[in-house]
Amino acid sequence: MSFIRTEDRDGVRVITLDNPPVNSLSFALSGELVPIVEAADKDDGVKAVVFIGANGIFSAGADVNDFSTEPTPETRTIRDVIAAVERSNKIYVAAIQKNALGGGLELSLACDYRVATADTKVGLPEIKLGLLPGAGGTQRLPRLIGAQDALDMMLKGKNVKAADAKEKGILDEVVESADGLLDAALKLAKNTEKRRISRRKVELGKGITAQAAPFIVSQAHKMVPAEDAGGFAAHKLIDAVEAAFELPFEFGIAREARLFEELARSAPSFALRHVFFAERELAKIPGLGDAKPLEVKKAGVIGAGTMGTGIAITFAQAGIPVAVIDSNADAVEKARQTVFGMFMYQVQKGRMTQEEAWKLGQSIHFTDDYNELADADVVIEAVFESMDVKKQVFEKLDGIVKPEGILASNTSTLDIDEMASVTKRRDKFVGLHFFVPANIMPLLEIVRGKDTSAQTLATAFKLGKTLRKTAVLSTNAFGFIGNRMVFDYAKAAGALAEEGISPMRIDRVAKTFGFPMGPFAMGDLSGIDVAWHIAKARPDVAKGRTDVIDRLVEMKRLGQKTMAGYFRYDKSVGKGREPIADPEIEALFADEAKKHGIAPREVSDDEILQRLVFALINRGAYLLEEGVALRPGDIDIVYIFGYGFPPHHGGPMWYADEVGVKHVYDKVVEFGWEPAPLLKSIAEKNGTFAALKQGELINA
Ligand code: NAD
Repeated sequence: MSFIRTEDRDGVRVITLDNPPVNSLSFALSGELVPIVEAADKDDGVKAVVFIGANGIFSAGADVNDFSTEPTPETRTIRDVIAAVERSNKIYVAAIQKNALGGGLELSLACDYRVATADTKVGLPEIKLGLLPGAGGTQRLPRLIGAQDALDMMLKGKNVKAADAKEKGILDEVVESADGLLDAALKLAKNTEKRRISRRKVELGKGITAQAAPFIVSQAHKMVPAEDAGGFAAHKLIDAVEAAFELPFEFGIAREARLFEELARSAPSFALRHVFFAERELAKIPGLGDAKPLEVKKAGVIGAGTMGTGIAITFAQAGIPVAVIDSNADAVEKARQTVFGMFMYQVQKGRMTQEEAWKLGQSIHFTDDYNELADADVVIEAVFESMDVKKQVFEKLDGIVKPEGILASNTSTLDIDEMASVTKRRDKFVGLHFFVPANIMPLLEIVRGKDTSAQTLATAFKLGKTLRKTAVLSTNAFGFIGNRMVFDYAKAAGALAEEGISPMRIDRVAKTFGFPMGPFAMGDLSGIDVAWHIAKARPDVAKGRTDVIDRLVEMKRLGQKTMAGYFRYDKSVGKGREPIADPEIEALFADEAKKHGIAPREVSDDEILQRLVFALINRGAYLLEEGVALRPGDIDIVYIFGYGFPPHHGGPMWYADEVGVKHVYDKVVEFGWEPAPLLKSIAEKNGTFAALKQGELINA
């Protein structure tokens, strides 16, 4: 297969990268490109070379699959292509359309000039995969724009728009559209006589003297997380940039390559690459066949509470007009204010103009007339968590919404099939479980009922994409994937507290592992009453959880919203969101422990972490076996995107593989929990969750 096309234009060789869909610079493409660059160099009829991309894009970078491929002596990488460009005496111009990311930008940086279309974004996002730019990016970008700016760009992995990139000096010229791109590149190529690349020393940044180098490096090290807390790649990246201004170019490049190899084999990078691939697997749903999704042009939301309002904003931001119905005038007024406040905030932040905000605000229409939903393509219910109330809503909707319209529930815990049963369109019924705040949280659980049709499911997945959510499929089981797991996690935390460990210490261990907050702060945030209601509704699931929850509800300590829950809150401390340890609650746990004959004991931080995370893993194994979740990777995505599991540990199931499933199983037994049969069988074979094949576990 050929990935490269060439054409000569008046002494300029135009080399087109053509590896659909995004011209990734795979080993195979590089293998083809190296001799083409070398041939151009030797050809006296060629004065200059222009690189350009087919498929409407320059290049999105390396092929992520290649990072895990062991190169052979014959393997050529983008580094070899760049080395050939460096050796050459011709003039090189990169003609960039849309994106030059990662290796794509690194190839461009090795050229003498870069011209791009106005809609171009450039960036070196390798850090997001736990890597660093390994094809000269850490050495060339600082030379081009100064070390400080380059560090900022690479450490955040952020993309820079064409206009900003030109101002920074990354791009030499920006053209309006792709039509004029090649001509502009050819002009530059023809009008340049000598190579422009120089090996000057790295400047630190505008107005920064060379003496400041150690300061910039030490500041950068301080700004990023610790090596064992998600910052492993960041520190190596800073080391590479330090080499750029301390060492001659060739040595710097060699240092960069060595650091890159080290990262490519590091556990955090494997975990982050797993997350990258797991995200891409999500939409592969068995039984979906070639079901064609319906187009969603108009939506409805029932309930203008916390969730309904967030969901409405999400639709508006995706350009879908939405009608919101609530029976309570106060709730509607509050929702209106939330919507207004949200869009005004975006204007203040410079993310949209007043006019755009006004337009978006207009696309959310509050009403109490259900008839306005007659032509809605999808209606999402977000009323109180009560089966009776929900059934009434769906019965009414079924009589009004057009027959092909999809009905969805945002319920956290209730049975989707039971709700569907009151409608005459069970095939067009689905769960769409958003997370709070719905307009910000990226996760969406799509719940397949027993009669949900392939087309409804396909529409739900397409809608998820339109709403810019990461959608994961779950079956109609209590708590779906995420909440089912979090119950066990909270239970494990409560049990630890009853053994005399303070909630503050337990939360600290979770945070040190990389969670943004610990289990008790999370309980306070979501509301102690919410957990209490669920426990009442499902005593089977709640079995073994601490009775302290009942005491807190009796004391009206419902969490952050009442400024007291497991912790205290004070307006003067972290705007009332910072947990403050409360000895009264520690005493409460001690009381409960005494009642149940639980003696306090010494527990190490390691064990605290194991009890929290292994509870998630054990439940995850049950969910896989029961077919609630399709793949271990789906669970990992739910937990990373919905509950803040540290991505550099790859999600709970990946983490189980990392520490050893056998070890997890042994501990689960030691803690006296019922191990999931799947956990046991994998442990007995000394296997991994990653080795499970998709579909192998689905209970048909
Ligand atoms: P909420 O109490 O903030 O809002 C519910 C709204 O529904 C209220 O404004 C109420 O006036 C309205 N309402 C009640 N009955 C109605 C009816 N018959 N017709 C029209 N409007 C009606 O609740 P919430 O937190 O937004 O939760 C809504 C749903 O979303 C629940 O099913 C809940 O389990 C689920 N959910 C909540 C969260 C969360 O963290 N809050 C997360 C995911 C899912």
